[in-house]
Amino acid sequence: MSTDGVAAPAGPPHFDLVVRGRRVLTAAGIAAREVGIRDGRIVAIEPLGHGLVGRSAIDLADDETLLPGLVDTHVHVNEPGRTDWEGFSSATRAAAAGGVTTLIDMPLNSIPATTNVAALAVKRAAATGQAFVDVGFWGGAVPGNTSDLRPLHDEGVFGFKCFLLHSGVEEFPQLEAEEMEADMAALASFDAMMIVHAEDSAAIDRAPPPRGARYDRFLASRPRGAENVAVAEVIERARRTGARAHILHLSSSDALPLIAAAKREGVRLSVETCPHYLTLTAEEIPDGATAFKCCPPIREASNRELLWQGLADGTIDCIVSDHSPSTPDLKDPENGDFAVAWGGVSSLQLGLPLIWTEARRRGIGLERVIGWMAHAPARLARLTRKGNLSLGGDADFFVFAADDGFVVDVARLKHKNPITPYAGRTLTGVVRRTFLRGVEVDGTTPTGRLLRRREA
Ligand SMILES: [Zn+2]
Repeated sequence: MSTDGVAAPAGPPHFDLVVRGRRVLTAAGIAAREVGIRDGRIVAIEPLGHGLVGRSAIDLADDETLLPGLVDTHVHVNEPGRTDWEGFSSATRAAAAGGVTTLIDMPLNSIPATTNVAALAVKRAAATGQAFVDVGFWGGAVPGNTSDLRPLHDEGVFGFKCFLLHSGVEEFPQLEAEEMEADMAALASFDAMMIVHAEDSAAIDRAPPPRGARYDRFLASRPRGAENVAVAEVIERARRTGARAHILHLSSSDALPLIAAAKREGVRLSVETCPHYLTLTAEEIPDGATAFKCCPPIREASNRELLWQGLADGTIDCIVSDHSPSTPDLKDPENGDFAVAWGGVSSLQLGLPLIWTEARRRGIGLERVIGWMAHAPARLARLTRKGNLSLGGDADFFVFAADDGFVVDVARLKHKNPITPYAGRTLTGVVRRTFLRGVEVDGTTPTGRLLRRREA
């Protein structure tokens, strides 16, 4: 970026802001463009040189690309109730620093869990005045709250999360498959989506328990089979009810053929995976390194390759963080015991550099990556004004230096607790500036909005 000045041509400015650059990603691909912004929306996209006049203007440097703000539909903010784990202020600052301009908060790990309208109100109140990016909310489906689902939907949650095994916290119990199907039938009647943590409880119970610091023992305790069975269950119940279903954080590549077949058949199914499954491998995780513990687990290198294939062929729709932090003590740093450590990876700020570093090594273009991290998650949540630089859309975007690099320094990450499995990694791609509705996110004035379904 060279200037933030007044645009040159005479006459009254038509725009609040004009961004000009050789590399601007719109629906037509990356090209030299000028983008005009008024009242927080994109109202003009023209070839570079057109001469749009704004009250202020930004000229991208030659190494910079303007990209639509990322949409991260899988974030555990944990506030209120476990605010020492994470919070709206720290999480949304981290999001903005990583180019994420919209996040959707998971219904559990906060207290109360978002399983009824009163709890949603508590959560919205906690978030008010703290959000540096836009924030939406998922609702939760737990035993006995079927009658709460429609009211939550009417209050604007983006869909409903359920677990098919113990969630890790007592206040968010799992559903049996029959209960999930009953809730899916209810959701289908108002076209809401069920998003599922798909690991099968019985299969996990039969697996050898995790013990101690050995990663291979932890991996064996969360076998692919447990995911495969649960994914099959979700597909079957979605097929039967006609509900929209979404598989959260897919790790087992074995499930890909099943998912592909269901999609071909017309089951209303979508799938996400996460940076940790796409960039890390079980083989490289040191024993005792509980920063890497998450459920389902990070699997073998061969599995990772198949997940990339699943993205390439469209079986997997999107990449989101599953940012799920805790306080350092809950990671059991003393003993590094995978049986007792909290399961969750902190990565909200690093998603794009992680994926971009790996993607470019594989010859995958930036457009494709942004498709997985902005367009597709926006579509998933039906956020029509997000995830694209397009006319009428929100002016949410960031400046990305795709060839620049950095080493991950935990102390410079903005999420609350300084833990991440990526510490010390060299990554390619630097987010230089992030804008929400045409205004730069400065980290001092929270301008994020709390989103309701269909309102953005
Ligand atoms: Zn999660």
